Amino acid sequence: MANKPLKVLFLAAEAVPFAKVGGLADVAGSLPKAIRALGHDVRLMMPRYGTIRSKQFHLEKIGDPFPVPVGPGKEQVHLIGGTLGESDAKVPVYLIWNDQYFSSRDRVYGFEDDAQRFAVFGRAALAALRLLKWKPDVIHANDWHTGIVPTWLNANGQTIPFYRDIATLFTIHNLAYQGITGRLILTFAQMEYVEHLSIEQPGTVNWMAQGIAHADLVNTVSAQYAREILTPDMGMGLDSLLRERKDRLSGVVNGIDYEQWDPATDPNIPHRFDADGLDRRIANKTALQQQTRLPVRSDVPLIGMVTRLDPVKGMDLMEPVLEWLLEQEAQFIVLGTGLPQYHESLERIQGRFPNRMRVFLKFDEVLARRIYAGADMFLMPSGVEPCGLGQMIAMRYGCVPVVRATGGLADTVTDYTAKRGRGTGFTFVDFTPEACKDALARALKVYHRKQAWRRTQQRCMSIDFSWSASAKQYVKLYRRAMTVHGTQGT
Ligand code: ADP
Repeated sequence: MANKPLKVLFLAAEAVPFAKVGGLADVAGSLPKAIRALGHDVRLMMPRYGTIRSKQFHLEKIGDPFPVPVGPGKEQVHLIGGTLGESDAKVPVYLIWNDQYFSSRDRVYGFEDDAQRFAVFGRAALAALRLLKWKPDVIHANDWHTGIVPTWLNANGQTIPFYRDIATLFTIHNLAYQGITGRLILTFAQMEYVEHLSIEQPGTVNWMAQGIAHADLVNTVSAQYAREILTPDMGMGLDSLLRERKDRLSGVVNGIDYEQWDPATDPNIPHRFDADGLDRRIANKTALQQQTRLPVRSDVPLIGMVTRLDPVKGMDLMEPVLEWLLEQEAQFIVLGTGLPQYHESLERIQGRFPNRMRVFLKFDEVLARRIYAGADMFLMPSGVEPCGLGQMIAMRYGCVPVVRATGGLADTVTDYTAKRGRGTGFTFVDFTPEACKDALARALKVYHRKQAWRRTQQRCMSIDFSWSASAKQYVKLYRRAMTVHGTQGT
């Protein structure tokens, strides 16, 4: 049946508001809500870390403790339940509670036994479905922490009627973390039958690779990044495996939470505005210049950056680019934290251009929003960018992006020069300071043509980056996963 509502279990190691380390938490905290809003029975499952307080989130125990087959025998685990979201599309949330592996830990990751911890999570998630007497059509597993689930379902679950019909989708959010561990993990997880993959080093298991190898379908967070990871340059050692599974691999760009990121309602910006009231936006630029003690000049282009200070974010291009940019009539504000070498180089350049540049070496949500709302341009010269949120937030706030055309940046920003009349930003391809300067130079030219600039800002603001479009694509993937699995999905 084409429009049959689906039952989907969404598995993730982190989800806003319960626990957040990075972008995965944003996705896991928003995408299930958007899928639920389309009428599907999606439920979220994650570990209950020590930082997740039952009172704060109104969590309640479900049923009796149940045994999970890990270690030499079985581990007892509790299930506690809560909800995600406030509106009528509330998502049921199940948290796996085990003192030894999760509730006694004050962080999500970074322990020596992470491999065991997430093996417990995966096997507990599968066992919990029986306790709940709820059989999903699809399990949507995310990143290496959940790679064990499609692996078990494919290698073992096919002989057990309850699990046989469950299709799987595995989403790669961050290929840099693969969950590589010794093969003894298979004994611990009571899964000795898992076959060694050719890309695995002898004696090791790579849970990201196993998830990719065993899921019915695999996707990542933009179409361009899905193509890039097939190359040895960007495949992080998994490109040959990904090429083998090319027919099952696709990209779905992430959304942003439109309630959280809305210049018309954002309480953190001094002057709220929308696409029809861009004159009000100028007051935010003035306020930002005042707050950061830059000369208050509405005619001078203000370029902003909010970023981790890391090589993948293109920080190695910045010194020559800034030396050039700040020789012009331009202002530059960067907000970020990261490697000390970049803290030093940015401060050094600020010292050379004290009236044109401001560096803020901290994490500051409010200042970030004021930059999105007040800067004219947003610079994102990333080396690698699976999806990227910054450019989407910037566009929503009428801040025109200047980005390197890689991964999700290539999929979400249309170059002004190439697509005159349709462009939403300025892009460059080569990962060089010259290419970055060229894109900025083109942006600065258009900036001084007031009408053309305003229309570009309005085009940026009119694009739909909400989760609803991407949620529909995920539902299509779920149905396709069911077809591939041999269960009805179309
Ligand atoms: P990544 O996940 O690789 O860091 P993204 O562009 O996908 O990059 O997401 C970065 C998010 O973190 C954006 O929402 C950005 O506004 C925010 N952010 C990054 N650095 C800071 C900072 N120093 N202060 C406030 N917000 C920040």
